[in-house]
Amino acid sequence: MNAEAARCYLCGSANLTIIADIRQKPEGETNFGIPPEDYRRLIYQYQDCSVYCNVHNYITEGFYTGRYNEATYNHQIHDKYREIRNLPRERSDNKHRAERVANFIDRLGLPREQVHVLDVGSGLGVFPAELKDMGFQCYCIDPDAAAIQHALQNVKVDGAHVGTLDDFESEHKFDVISFNKVLEHLKEPVRYLKKARGFLTSQGIVYIELPDGDSALEHGNAVDRQEFYIEHFTIFNKASLSFLAQEAGFDCLEVASIHEPSDKFTVYGFLKPRVG
Ligand SMILES: [Zn+2]
Repeated sequence: MNAEAARCYLCGSANLTIIADIRQKPEGETNFGIPPEDYRRLIYQYQDCSVYCNVHNYITEGFYTGRYNEATYNHQIHDKYREIRNLPRERSDNKHRAERVANFIDRLGLPREQVHVLDVGSGLGVFPAELKDMGFQCYCIDPDAAAIQHALQNVKVDGAHVGTLDDFESEHKFDVISFNKVLEHLKEPVRYLKKARGFLTSQGIVYIELPDGDSALEHGNAVDRQEFYIEHFTIFNKASLSFLAQEAGFDCLEVASIHEPSDKFTVYGFLKPRVG
């Protein structure tokens, strides 16, 4: 690994501590077809922003255009969607997430049917489906054309775009833009989050969820905990989520660390654009 490869994906610093040197695919990690003899990645924690980074060269730009769902869900998007949708509340990350977001929006005093939510990286679309049941208007973006076709046909979202925020154009502004376990898959999370500002209404907010590395390490280790698996370039904590928000031009209204029904450790934040 050269020095450039070791720069932090969040703050750009090279001031790091080695957390793990991993030379074998963890048992629970998705098999992305890396030959076992080539498998190697390093997990660093950076002192200046406190984020963790997974450093390797296996997952590159364009990776999520169809291939991710192929490997992860084997094209059975609709079956998987129904299975997750049907989880009882106590086992459903999505039902808790939808309640968390709905409760926050309700406190802003907007009638639900007038609230337009844009879910970025919507995947199976379970979260927009839950929000639609609660009366919100939902839109989504995903680089996987099969996921978007499913969102339109089965979830019946109000609008959808195949691609990313980089190629998204809209006259329409949104009251909520959500990034649920999305930004950790990107090497430029600050640049990407900044893009959301241009699509928000004047009172609009952003909701973010990211894997929580601190809690994962308290309850396990960097090899076996899924928060640290290869597809996450960055793994956060409350301090690094706040750093990300500030760098992208947002203030945090609320940041918290949770343990989800699926056993994921997660940090979430509600953000609003910083004025001036
Ligand atoms: Zn950093």
